[in-house]
Amino acid sequence: MKKAIYPGSFDPLTLGHMDVITRAAGMFDHIIVSVLNNNEKSPLFSVEERVTILKEETRQLPNVTVDSFSGLLINYAQKKDVHVIIRGLRAITDFEYELQMAQTNRILSNGKVDTVFLTTSLEYAYLSSSSVRQIASFDGDISMCVPPIVAGAVYRKYGLRQQDIE
Ligand code: ADP
Repeated sequence: MKKAIYPGSFDPLTLGHMDVITRAAGMFDHIIVSVLNNNEKSPLFSVEERVTILKEETRQLPNVTVDSFSGLLINYAQKKDVHVIIRGLRAITDFEYELQMAQTNRILSNGKVDTVFLTTSLEYAYLSSSSVRQIASFDGDISMCVPPIVAGAVYRKYGLRQQDIE
């Protein structure tokens, strides 16, 4: 059984993340989408909220499960007996950081855990969770960036009236 973990902050989940999840689900028998519980950041959504949103949005994908983790990704992967990590690559700016992480994880796991990169679909290449947060914080339209449920939840977090996006 070919399993992979797709780790990330997903704060919030974007259509770019959904695209990576859907494509990865077509390549592996089982994908674990796992929310990083990073205590140093002050997130918009709690880990529990992000897990709930991800479960809702991946309901139609039977081979996708949702989880969360803290600490070293490599320890989590080994605990789950998973040897593949999925990451998305948007632009050259992602590359240096992702390359360093992938190599570190490979070394830390004694070559047992590899990272597979999916290049972004062009229509989502510009999308990041941080830009979604920024746009929403100024009452901008995020309907082309995130699933509808997420848009409503993000606007509520910022205490804004949801725009009529019809
Ligand atoms: P961000 O980097 O926006 O904070 P995450 O940490 O949640 O997002 O990202 C998890 C993974 O998803 C990373 O590998 C990231 O490069 C990838 N990713 C994020 N947005 C996109 C996108 N629009 N297209 C493809 N991959 C993406």
